[in-house]
Amino acid sequence: MEFLQSLKLTSKNKGVSTGNTWFESTGKWVDSYSPVDGKLIGSVQVADRANYDLVIAKAEEAFKVWRTWPAPKRGEVVRQIGEALRQYKEPLGKLVSYEMGKSLQEGYGEVQEMIDICDFAVGLSRQLNGSTLHSERPQHRMYDQYHPLGIVGIISAFNFPVAVWSWNTMLGWICGDVCVWKPSEKTPLCAVACQHIISEVFAKNNVPEGVSGLVMGEREAGEWLAADTRIPLISATGSTRMGKAVAAAVAARLGKSLLELGGNNAIIISKEADLDIAILGALFGAVGTAGQRCTTTRRLIIHEDVYDTVKSKLVSAYGQLKIGDPLDQKNHVGPLIDKDAVQQYLQSIEKCKAEGGNFIVEGGVLTGAGYESGCYVKPCIAEAKPDYAIVQHETFAPILYLLKYTTIEEAIEIQNGVPQGLSSSIMTLNLREAELFLSASGSDCGIANVNIGTSGAEIGGAFGGEKETGGGRESGSDAWKIYMRRQTNTINYSTNLPLAQGIKFDL
Ligand code: NAD
Repeated sequence: MEFLQSLKLTSKNKGVSTGNTWFESTGKWVDSYSPVDGKLIGSVQVADRANYDLVIAKAEEAFKVWRTWPAPKRGEVVRQIGEALRQYKEPLGKLVSYEMGKSLQEGYGEVQEMIDICDFAVGLSRQLNGSTLHSERPQHRMYDQYHPLGIVGIISAFNFPVAVWSWNTMLGWICGDVCVWKPSEKTPLCAVACQHIISEVFAKNNVPEGVSGLVMGEREAGEWLAADTRIPLISATGSTRMGKAVAAAVAARLGKSLLELGGNNAIIISKEADLDIAILGALFGAVGTAGQRCTTTRRLIIHEDVYDTVKSKLVSAYGQLKIGDPLDQKNHVGPLIDKDAVQQYLQSIEKCKAEGGNFIVEGGVLTGAGYESGCYVKPCIAEAKPDYAIVQHETFAPILYLLKYTTIEEAIEIQNGVPQGLSSSIMTLNLREAELFLSASGSDCGIANVNIGTSGAEIGGAFGGEKETGGGRESGSDAWKIYMRRQTNTINYSTNLPLAQGIKFDL
């Protein structure tokens, strides 16, 4: 496959790098099989502990130099990375689609998000502003400023195999940090490809070796990062189970963590909704990326007056879905990431049925020509109750639960009545309902939308969620501040030493 060659991928790839240098390891080989056709794409060797320590030591060394580069000069490197990503958009987008299983358009979209965050970070490199404050003492000046933190450890999930790394890294780099990435073991080739792309830019700009570390590994490598006192910030994206383990390890050493964990996102469909928009938003949100987005719509909370209409429109829309090879743009739904995910999908359907769920669109695994990988499943819909254990749980698959409500207050209570708090939406043309949903008595999620579905976020906004989603914010707005340490400075240019709060200390 040509796109693999243009990304410098071979059948056997090293998985440990400090930028331009790649290292031998004694670690095992991880094979990457495509969920699209079940074929082996290539293998990547994981880091052993000695490799890991080498990457961290190199990162510490690099930080001492990188932090002295003016932020706009670091921004210029990030600008060139954005240019390189524009050049590699096609092969990298294809790889994302082939290795992860999302549609080709979404694969390109993910690379576009990387380009967008580069552009955002370049501008930000000239705006890392603190504030000037008035001192209570005469001839004193006070201000606060932001300094780089050091090493940022990035643990990422399979479903956004390249974008999540770039959201963290591009901001980290312009802030003066150095980054060490532990990608998902389910999408290792995407990570190796990214490292190749940036290493070309780094070489041209004499960026110190160690600014971009890669440690391929499974859970153990993530645990090394979380426990490592040399790493002031861990940014971890993945399941709530993983986030709880990482949070405990990082907190035990009083490090900082930025957690982006599971979601259980709902759309409220009011009786005053534009139903065409509502159905389209629900459909894309529920089946896009085969239900494997953290922002996937998992619950529809529908007003009783429009419940039957919404239900029949959805059944008809689901009947038209084309499931198959995601690289073929005619298909709407691709495969799940692997057979374990298929098992979890099947178990969730059984659990829902056992709790009384009524499937109005049945699920199941597809077999036969084109489905040889065993990872293609049918998106399904169940009528359910908000308090079913399975409805409270994030199943990373295209299962949509329909829930009925009578009053807007009840709808908001249902929306908030889950452990997760990532994304939420209301479909309504009623201003009062919309504003209530966005008010302090409304949605408790990090993202709350009106007349837009739950999935898909612009990089300009801060992204993240509350409760078991972890509380982290990354990407746009002032999310950059987590990648820096804050310092308050007071300068005395008088000939006296007046003490704060008027305290006298006469000798
Ligand atoms: P996962 O939790 O299985 O793995 C994520 C990463 O964590 C992998 O790199 C894995 O090796 C590592 N890991 C696992 N256990 C660890 C531990 N104990 N210590 C350190 N590292 C560990 O998640 P996944 O299946 O790859 O991704 C799906 C999940 O990610 C879903 O729950 C989804 O909602 C979530 N997600 C959230 C966001 C967000 O922004 N909120 C974005 C993408 C994905």
